[in-house]
Amino acid sequence: MTKTLLKASTIKHRTNKLIKKKLDKLWSELIKKRAKEMCEMCGKSTMLNSHHIISRSNLNLRWDLHNGVCLCVSCHSLSNHSAHKDPLGFAEWVRQHRPDDYNYLMVKRNERFDKDYERIERELKKWNELKYFPKKKGEV
Ligand SMILES: [Zn+2]
Repeated sequence: MTKTLLKASTIKHRTNKLIKKKLDKLWSELIKKRAKEMCEMCGKSTMLNSHHIISRSNLNLRWDLHNGVCLCVSCHSLSNHSAHKDPLGFAEWVRQHRPDDYNYLMVKRNERFDKDYERIERELKKWNELKYFPKKKGEV
């Protein structure tokens, strides 16, 4: 029986796909955790999605927490005023409610992606430990 040998480029492509999937999951969990499991627009706590303010096709911002908002399915895509159905209205909401992130994204959106997935993973884990979830006094 002969084994099929995969081309190096195919292996790299598949590995990158797995890494992206893992980072997507981590990013999504952190966005919800930061929002304390509530929709950031209406406050509901059921059927939550992590929404990319700038499309996830922008790899430089795909796993950046500045680029995420926790939304219920209605505010995300179902209602006529949702982030997906009213992108202009949503951009305005971000500008008003998350001005620092809005300004950050305006600067970062045209930067090139360095393809350093390990750095991204390290940064997401660091955010998890330090930035949004500081340990309580005395907690180890
Ligand atoms: Zn909502």
